[in-house]
Amino acid sequence: MPELPEVETVRRGLMEHFVGRTLVKMELRRDGLRFPFPVDMGSRMEGREFISIERRAKYLLIRLSGGLTWLAHLGMSGHFSLLAAGEERASLHEYSLGMPVGKGRHDHVVAHLDDGSRVVYTDPRRFGVMDLIDTSAEEEHRLLRHLGPEPLEHEWTASVLASALRGRNVKIKTALLDQRVVVGIGNIYACEALFRARISPLRISSTLAGKRRPTKRVELLVDAVKEILNEAIESGGSTLNDFQAVDGELGYFTHFFQVYDRDGKECKRESCGGKIIRIVQGGRSTFYCRRCQR
Ligand SMILES: [Zn+2]
Repeated sequence: MPELPEVETVRRGLMEHFVGRTLVKMELRRDGLRFPFPVDMGSRMEGREFISIERRAKYLLIRLSGGLTWLAHLGMSGHFSLLAAGEERASLHEYSLGMPVGKGRHDHVVAHLDDGSRVVYTDPRRFGVMDLIDTSAEEEHRLLRHLGPEPLEHEWTASVLASALRGRNVKIKTALLDQRVVVGIGNIYACEALFRARISPLRISSTLAGKRRPTKRVELLVDAVKEILNEAIESGGSTLNDFQAVDGELGYFTHFFQVYDRDGKECKRESCGGKIIRIVQGGRSTFYCRRCQR
């Protein structure tokens, strides 16, 4: 499943391609994905210019001239690919199935731009979301209004996290995945951040928070989250076609996992000597080292 760094990479890639271009034709090949598309979505978008693209949690907010926002979420397996004018190269997914891109049965949305290029949205499992909303009403959107703070913004500090954890009786791993506590930290990066901060995923949140001021451990955790997300974004490249996930599998980010998916292997922390184990929390796999994460 694409996580925050992957979505941020997609945002940057789309920005480079979209901004300043005009949408000539919006080709919707289905009535919807996870939810139905709004009626007249395509015709309302056509003829507008792309102004900017923002990200809120894992939602892309693609802003069009005239105060409209095309909201997109990649779901489990969605991805965008770019095709230059006249180009018929296959996206990795369709290519693997022997189909030319733009013609595969999973290519659900094609945006035709004024320079003849196309942006194709492919989504085999169709858990993605697309909506068209007034830019001025973005914050009140039913999918966005309950979201907590963004982990990469300066405003997200140890004090902010500590107050969210105070009095909470849930385990810290569960709290990090709670979108009201902080958005966009998925299972993989929660495991990685806890490993880097040497915190056990089983620790009860309130015991980390500190009574008035945040503990040193919360400070380490906030730093670890920011570092890991930034490193993943930096390793992601800046063009869309660098990011080609086949069937929602993660591609090039996997090489730098320190703990995720390493059960039974030796802990990578120097001189630790522990072994990574896998447990299940809330139906999701957690990987950690019992020796150096406390
Ligand atoms: Zn260890």
